[in-house]
Amino acid sequence: MNYRKKFFVEPGSKVRLNDVDPSFTGKHESADEAREAIAKDCDRLAHLQYRLYAENRRSLLVVLQAPDAAGKDGTVRHVFGSLNPQGATAHAFKVPTAEEAAHDFLWRAHKVTPARGSIAIFNRSYYEDVLVTRVHDLVPKDAIPKRFDRIAEFEKNLQQAGTQILKFYLHISADEQLRRFQQRLEDPNRQWKISESDYSERPYWNDYRKAYEDALEHTSTERSPWYVIPANHKWFRNLAVARIVTETLDEMDLQFPAPTVDIEEMRAKFHAAEGEPAGKA
Ligand code: ATP
Ligand code: MG
Repeated sequence: MNYRKKFFVEPGSKVRLNDVDPSFTGKHESADEAREAIAKDCDRLAHLQYRLYAENRRSLLVVLQAPDAAGKDGTVRHVFGSLNPQGATAHAFKVPTAEEAAHDFLWRAHKVTPARGSIAIFNRSYYEDVLVTRVHDLVPKDAIPKRFDRIAEFEKNLQQAGTQILKFYLHISADEQLRRFQQRLEDPNRQWKISESDYSERPYWNDYRKAYEDALEHTSTERSPWYVIPANHKWFRNLAVARIVTETLDEMDLQFPAPTVDIEEMRAKFHAAEGEPAGKA
């Protein structure tokens, strides 16, 4: 199945998250059965990162947005965990600090966009500024459509500098979220993850849905696509994200740069060195 086609938010199309099955797994039946496919994609991702780094011309920005407990952290760990840390960064966007809040909303994001040759993963992002801020009326209503425009310009600017952007909305059901909250409560290794906001945001579930639908609808483009990833099954979420990222990098046709030296000349030097001990006589 072509996940890039299936989960892509067509630019300008109405998004209805309630119509997307968060438990979808396609032809795959279980985590066990999908394990090999996921491992293969993650492996391929590591190879492609090597090429991206070597080419040193373009970069990749991955944006992860989702409700609490939908698996942003898990996606970073499972899908991107095999990347070479030299050439990859992950950045979590929290409530803005005083310094961040004193700047325009894109300032803190722009500083951590990926350098040439590297991959940046945003765990939450500048999209929070059209989501949480909208749900809690932290900005005037008419600021939101203006921010959609600013985001479109910002992303275009990055693209023109060689950055490929991929945006994933991890789609879970309200029931699945509650189940995961319960797991957090019962597992001593997960209790540290519980925050007040897990529960204080749940009453706003529908408002978030609406805010997400609007944001996806207004900011998905061919060059800077949003994908709605069914995420009730963690393994399927990993598979779909890994597949879309690897296929995108594949399509970028990343090239090793030409050597900066004359290889024949270097070969001759190598042979000369072979016959002589290192160090000065
Ligand atoms: P987890 O999924 O593990 O709970 P998290 O990403 O929710 O991780 P937290 O520290 O619990 O991490 O939450 C970060 C909070 O910061 C979120 O509630 C998010 O909405 C909020 N936040 C992020 N950006 C902004 C912003 N620009 N304005 C206001 N709040 C923001
Ligand atoms: Mg949280």
